[in-house]
Parts: sequence; C-alpha cells; structure tokens
Amino acid sequence: MSLIVQKFGGTSVADLERIRNVAKRVIKTYDQGNDVVVILSAMAGITDNLLGMAQGVSETPDKRELDVLLATGEQTTSALLAMILKSMDYPAQSLLGHQAEVVTDHCFGNARIVDIRTDRINELIGNRNIVVIAGFQGCDPQGNITTLGRGGSDTSAVAIAAALKADVCEIYTDVDGIYTADPNICDKARKLNAISYDEMLNMASLGAKVLQIRSVGFAKKYNIPVHVRSSFSEEEGTMVVNEDSGMERLVVSGVTHDKNQARITLKKVPDQPGVAAKIFTPIADSGTVVDMIIQNTRAGGQTDLTFTVPRASFQTALAIEKRIAKEIGAEDVFGDESIAKVSVIGVGMKDHSGVASKMFATLAAENINIILISTSEIRISCIIEEKYTELAVRVLHTAFGLDTE
Ligand code: ADP
Ligand code: ASP
Ligand code: MG
Repeated sequence: MSLIVQKFGGTSVADLERIRNVAKRVIKTYDQGNDVVVILSAMAGITDNLLGMAQGVSETPDKRELDVLLATGEQTTSALLAMILKSMDYPAQSLLGHQAEVVTDHCFGNARIVDIRTDRINELIGNRNIVVIAGFQGCDPQGNITTLGRGGSDTSAVAIAAALKADVCEIYTDVDGIYTADPNICDKARKLNAISYDEMLNMASLGAKVLQIRSVGFAKKYNIPVHVRSSFSEEEGTMVVNEDSGMERLVVSGVTHDKNQARITLKKVPDQPGVAAKIFTPIADSGTVVDMIIQNTRAGGQTDLTFTVPRASFQTALAIEKRIAKEIGAEDVFGDESIAKVSVIGVGMKDHSGVASKMFATLAAENINIILISTSEIRISCIIEEKYTELAVRVLHTAFGLDTE
C-alpha cells in the first residue's frame, strides 16, 4: 500500500464529465488499497475568465481581493469532485488551501509555500478518506488567501507530497509525458521515459509550462518522484527523478520556447559609471524580473542597451525607462512585445563545442534573425521575432537529432 498524490490540471477537470473521469481514476487507485490525496486545478479557462472579470472592475485590481477571486476556480472543482466521490459512497472530503494549512508568505499572486501542517490531512487519510485539496492556493500567517502564480497547482501537489512523504506525485495533464519539445507545436517531439530534476528545472525556467518551475524545485529538494502522465490514457508517462537513474545523455536533450517575453532598448546612453544601476534599480524596485541584458558600445562615449522582461511587466518597465532616459540623457527608448525566446538545453553541452554555432547556423538557414543571445553551461537561448517561434523550434529539434523517425 502506498500514499499517492494525484494532481489533475485544468483540461482534466474542464467539465462535469471529465471530473467524473477523474473520480474513476482516483477510485481505481484507492480500491487497490492505496491512500490517495488529490490536488485539483480550476476548470480550463476559468482562471483567465476570473482575471478578465477583475480587470473589468479595475485596471489594477487590489492584489488581496484578486487572490480571493482567483482561488474560487479551484474551490469549485474540489467541491464537485468530493461531491461525486461521496455520491458513489466513497469517503471523501474537500479542503481549501487554508483548511489544508498550506501556509505561504504574503506575496499575493505569486506566494511561496513556507509550511504545510499536515495534521488534518493525515487524520483524514488515517480514516481512509480520499482528501481532495484545492491547488494553487494557500494562506499567509494572518489568514489571508494567497495564490501561487500561474500553473501553481503543480507546486501545491509536489509540496503536499513532500510534506506527507508520499511515495509518488502523479501529475495528470493533457499530454502523455514530457517531450523533447512542446508536442503541440513540434510533431516530431519525442517522449522521454525519464528526465532529471536539473534538466526539468531548466526546461521549466525556459518556457516548458508542463510543470511549474517551483514544483520541480520542491521535488528535487525533497527527492519526490514526479510522474507526468495523461488524464486521458492509461499509458506510462515521464518520471522526473535524480540524475543517475540510467538516463540517456545527449548533448542537446530538449528545445523550449517562451512567448512571454518583451524587450526594451535605450538608445545612445552615456557610457559612464553608475548608469546601468540607474537604469535597473527602479525596474527591480517595481518587482520586475529582468532576464537578458545586452550592451553595445558606440563611438563617442555612448552605448545602446537592450533588456528583456516578462510581457506582463512590459508597460510598467517601459514607463519607468522613459522617465530614466530623460534623467540620464539617453536619446530614445523603445520596446517590442512580439518577440520570443527559443532555447536548446542539455547537460551534455558542458563538454561539447559547436552547439552555439550549430544553433545560429540553423536559424540563419531559415532566415530567422537573432535579436539577443544568452548562454550558460547547459543551455543557449536566442530571442527572435515571435512569428518564427514554431518554425525555430522545429528546425532546431531536427538539427540536434531529436526527431522521432
Ligand atoms: P495543466 O492544465 O494540466 O496544468 P498545462 O497547460 O499547464 O496543463 O501544461 C501542459 C502543456 O505543456 C501541454 O499541453 C504542452 O503544450 C505544454 N508543454 C510545453 N513544453 C512541453 C514539453 N516539453 N513536454 C510536454 N508538454 C509541454
Ligand atoms: N488555475 C491556475 C492557473 O490557471 C493554477 C493551475 O492551473 O495550476 O494558472
Ligand atoms: Mg499547468
């Protein structure tokens, strides 16, 4: 007998029929004698609808109240699943984030889990209940409802699995595992049997939204095996595990894309000490995360400086830089939201040369212009025009020998 945490994403609970299917899966695991804790997302599209409603009320909705609103999506699905299970004579109980005692910091909209007090969940499991917990939400020490950032129910699931010392955390989604590239845009993407925590951390941070990055961090820290698999088939999915579990080592093991990107350029910035600090300090103070930065030196003691931010932060960052440009005497500021980041990833890259040049040549052969480049030991990322994203992913996937036959 095992303790199994099962998380179902938005498409898996998109309507009542699908929630009934979830009930069947959960019951199957329970009837095999396992203890089951279920974490649910909101129905697909609901979180976006709720966000839209909030924006209809105010351009900058109050962050505390926004989290109260967004948490209702997961409250709905959790209540419905528990109701269905009970109507089938299975002992079940739903818990909201605060009832499951998922304690977070105060950061509304992007809160971090700091503690999970498992007494209530353990008591319910001890009495052979199926515990259904609303994902994506917690509460701060003052009892305010918080949410964990988009895709956050993955993190709820892995964090709860860690706190309960579960045997496995199963993530049920609309694809049947983790692929070498997003299978929805690259039809030659290959399903992986296993992937290491570190590679998955890289893929998640570079745009593969199949797992929220923080969930992979929890899984690695507490050594929780995560099984990503389909809600709609019985097939085995992909195990996210420690590195030495007999995995194949490719130079490049995956290609990712991220359309959540925007860039800002300051033209003819005086090339003096302290100027970069003046440009980036107010951006950091606004809570915006800057990703790539590039500075080109011109003749005449001036530089051009370009950096990227998440699209949601674009307008705020642009407004800040328009003010700063006047203060420091830069000639112009402009921005662009129609860009994307494509990356090739692989731990095997550490001791191989020629990966970057192959990536650039592959994009050049398709006439795709590279706007910005950044590299680390195990990945290379290029910013390109958004309209070329799908093409770029496909040609890179082929060029690095990742295609299925
Ligand atoms: P859920 O609602 O179940 O949490 P998500 O939409 O958050 O599902 O994540 C699943 C999606 O992740 C897939 O539909 C797929 O388009 C996308 N995805 C991106 N990169 C990958 C990848 N490398 N492997 C599998 N899926 C990926
Ligand atoms: N419902 C939330 C979202 O859409 C959380 C999740 O699905 O993981 O982002
Ligand atoms: Mg998700």
